[in-house]
Amino acid sequence: MLHHVQIACPPGGEESMRAFYHGVLGWAEIPKPPLLAARGGCWFAVPGVDGPAAELHIGPEDPFRPARRAHPAFVVDVDAVAAGLVAAGYAVRWADAAEIPGRRRFHTDDPAGNRLEFLGAGDGAGARRVPFDIADYERRVRESPCFICAIVAGTHDSELEQIIDEDDENIAFLCRYPTLTGHTLVAPKQHHEHVVRDLELEKFWRLTEMVHRVARAVETVVPTERMYLASLGSQQGNSHLHWHIAPLPPGVPYREQQFHALMAENGVLAWTLADAVDLAGRLRRALNS
Ligand SMILES: [Zn+2]
Repeated sequence: MLHHVQIACPPGGEESMRAFYHGVLGWAEIPKPPLLAARGGCWFAVPGVDGPAAELHIGPEDPFRPARRAHPAFVVDVDAVAAGLVAAGYAVRWADAAEIPGRRRFHTDDPAGNRLEFLGAGDGAGARRVPFDIADYERRVRESPCFICAIVAGTHDSELEQIIDEDDENIAFLCRYPTLTGHTLVAPKQHHEHVVRDLELEKFWRLTEMVHRVARAVETVVPTERMYLASLGSQQGNSHLHWHIAPLPPGVPYREQQFHALMAENGVLAWTLADAVDLAGRLRRALNS
């Protein structure tokens, strides 16, 4: 069944509505039947996953008042639509991810001032992500002392980095900016920088043993379709070598897997200290069982 959504525009406002709904959002215009066309307004096909999801009918009203409170909501690829709106100069207001768990959504206003909501289908790695300020992160990383040495020394400033395992040589702790639930880091306690060059084989082996042990624990605690392991870092910041243990959950669209799933540029999880404490507790129990 095709739904019709009705909103209004000011008299003579059709061209700016076409520029937005067709020009920016890319929705095809549906010709109005001749008798209705005489009253002005314009119709658009709202795309869905497997064909048109709805028709949007826009009619002129005089006097016009933009819909600010009651508003239509459209299920879309939220990242793609948000990127297009921002590129066209429209404000994108992301909703607090905690309001509707599992649904990422934002609001914007059309040229007439009507409030619109766009929300994702609710699946996938991106479902609980919120935007991440990469420029601010880069500045802090490049200006701050080593964050892993601070964790080892107990002087780090974030309790989100809950320690879940350690021995004399290595340490495992939760990622402060996770892109996937269960995202954990494993590092040597000594400030080594190069993942193979700085570790003789036995030491490398003991580090990867902890990676293996922690990754197995992560798999028992969060649904995991594939386990991603990566050692990245930069000599310009975050130089202390560390392994990322990042479990990809089931059901993530192909284009949101692999590097996309790991990049904070695509958003990080809306993550609270309570989430971190809960996850760390479950991981410690899994490690000890
Ligand atoms: Zn260090």
